[in-house]
Amino acid sequence: MSTTTQKPRGRQFFANPGPTNIPDSVLRAMDRPSIDFNDTEFAPVYDGAFDGVRRVLRTTQSLFMYNASGHGAWEASLTNLLSPGDTILVLESGYFSEEWGTMARSHGLEVRVLEADWRQGVDMGALRGVLAEDKAHTIRAICAVHNETATGLMLPLQEIRAAIDAAAHPALFLVDTISSLGSLDFRMDEWKIDCVVGGSQKGLMLPTGMSFTGVSEKGLAAHAQAKLPRYYFDWTLMGKRPQKSFIGTIPTSMFYGLRESVRLLEEEGLENVYARHHRLAEATRRAVQVWAANDGPQLFCTNPARASDSVTAVLMPEGHDPEAVRRIARQRFNVSLGGGLGKLNGKIFRIGHLGDLNEPMVLGALSAVEMALRIAGVPHGRGGVEAAMDYLAS
Ligand SMILES: *Cc1c(COP(=O)(O)O)cnc(C)c1O
Repeated sequence: MSTTTQKPRGRQFFANPGPTNIPDSVLRAMDRPSIDFNDTEFAPVYDGAFDGVRRVLRTTQSLFMYNASGHGAWEASLTNLLSPGDTILVLESGYFSEEWGTMARSHGLEVRVLEADWRQGVDMGALRGVLAEDKAHTIRAICAVHNETATGLMLPLQEIRAAIDAAAHPALFLVDTISSLGSLDFRMDEWKIDCVVGGSQKGLMLPTGMSFTGVSEKGLAAHAQAKLPRYYFDWTLMGKRPQKSFIGTIPTSMFYGLRESVRLLEEEGLENVYARHHRLAEATRRAVQVWAANDGPQLFCTNPARASDSVTAVLMPEGHDPEAVRRIARQRFNVSLGGGLGKLNGKIFRIGHLGDLNEPMVLGALSAVEMALRIAGVPHGRGGVEAAMDYLAS
């Protein structure tokens, strides 16, 4: 097979579910010399970005930020809220729920997993059963990934909250919003979430490297009793530092970018941002449903009510390699797609449709996928892009 060594022209279409496209105005906002983070000139930038993130989280409660990717905020959520030997319940959704649980175990926590089919997500009846049985309230925290980036599945946070309330269970409710914040409807205070884990490089359209946790009053009270070792991520220590929510140097460039990305989200309006993500996701799903004919690739998520509006995972037909499709899309058409994570590696590829994205960008990515399927000799129904256009034009 001939592979081009020429440098591709035009823009790369970045259809990865994270990191995502960085808007030009965010890049420009970050393109500036170093500034002393104690400089009075920086204070409004810090405050603007900080308050902006709280508005996107829809909270008036506490926020702590870190120089770390999302994994750092996961670690902060566990070590600040829990003590050695505490039991947590992880709602299985895919690779990222597994990772969060593995991290918890390595910190000496007892991890119970509410098992689920990765194509469906947890059963609410099963969750109600586990909570009703836990009369001694040994479960200290319930961890849910709002949008499981590895499988393209959303969990209904309001239903989970309702199940916790119905059981009158005192467990803390921890939610990972790394690939949903700024893309899918999310309300920290209204849905009574005690700790929200977020990151910079997905719906917030920034480079990788900053993450944060929103924390409720109930979470802060639990933090005061929590005994897991911590230092860099310690919320109490942060409160005593002049850098407010950071232990070390504040990533000032990120704050200039963050202030701009929040401005973009609010200029569009959060409700419109969510509606755009839904529209682009639905167009993507319509295309995949057409490709599924002739024993072609199909939607990995088989629970339509939970199909993710920020990423679509596509299951390849038996005997066909998703990596070949990704390679062709990348090398021939300069379109970057996500691969399969963990046990889904070699079985699926993922089309990211979150962040700074519009209709022609999604159609471009879908066209490249359809061409790559053809070139790779993968059986599929033709006309997926047409179906996406029909939907977007309707
Ligand atoms: C990307 C992602 C993570 C991991 O974040 P990093 O920034 O890569 O550490 C965790 N959870 C979800 C849902 C994600 O999408």
